[in-house]
Amino acid sequence: MEAKIMLITGGSRGIGSAIAELAAAEGYAVCFSYKSNREAADAVVERIVGNGGQALAVQADVAVEDDILRLFEASDRRFGPLTVLVNNAGILEKQMRVEQMDAARMQRIFTTNVVGSFLCAREAVRRMSTAHGGKGGAIVNISSIAARAGGPGEYVDYAASKGAIDTLTVGLAKEVATEGIRVNGVRPGVIYTDIHASGGEPGRVDRVKVNVPMQRGGQPQEIAEAVLWLASGKASYVTGTLIDVTGGR
Ligand code: NAD
Repeated sequence: MEAKIMLITGGSRGIGSAIAELAAAEGYAVCFSYKSNREAADAVVERIVGNGGQALAVQADVAVEDDILRLFEASDRRFGPLTVLVNNAGILEKQMRVEQMDAARMQRIFTTNVVGSFLCAREAVRRMSTAHGGKGGAIVNISSIAARAGGPGEYVDYAASKGAIDTLTVGLAKEVATEGIRVNGVRPGVIYTDIHASGGEPGRVDRVKVNVPMQRGGQPQEIAEAVLWLASGKASYVTGTLIDVTGGR
């Protein structure tokens, strides 16, 4: 059997660590990046290795191109040819109306969420494309339901960055469709993770869950299941697709 190797950005907590742990349980060797929390990253590696899996944590800021190159090289060196990339790392900033936002904030959000995902996707295509002698693979981008809802009054900038991720997903999928690479995305709804504290409202999921048809927030593992399906051969005829995992929202 071919080795299954998954690279995940932002894997030390939240949705990223759930993806890393599920992937390892499903037989992937997992390389994930963390931005600064070495302890949290080491704890994820320890859990995976303790369960008999393989994992490597690499410090890398996806807003820095050299860090991305170093991350992919570290994964290549340790595990060999990459088969799946998950663009998970993402930020949002304190909720506010558009009148209060400035260009620097928009640039920070787009540099991490869009440029970072784009550069990682480029590195993955360089390695996976059959046009470059690669064996193919899959890319899964973590978008957000905000790409469709727009984030009015809270974070239209973040929502716009996720809209860009959706367009990148569709365009890239078509560009590499004959080169053995499938590109898809997952749009989470409101999920219990730390990201809502960055938005200035740690309890946000419990406030907005009344607007979710299933009347609850999601768990990171429920996003990980969709990612693992899209990455797998079970989704062999699926590309350029965004799956909403939102409890019906
Ligand atoms: P989180 O804040 O717990 O995790 C985000 C991860 O990204 C962290 O590990 C963080 O260190 C990493 N990260 C941020 N900036 C980085 C950078 N410059 N370089 C490297 N890593 C960086 O939040 P989460 O909810 O687990 O977020 C994961 C993804 O899911 C994000 O793309 C987010 O936009 C998306 N998402 C989350 C929700 C939700 O309700 N939690 C909803 C929709 C989409």
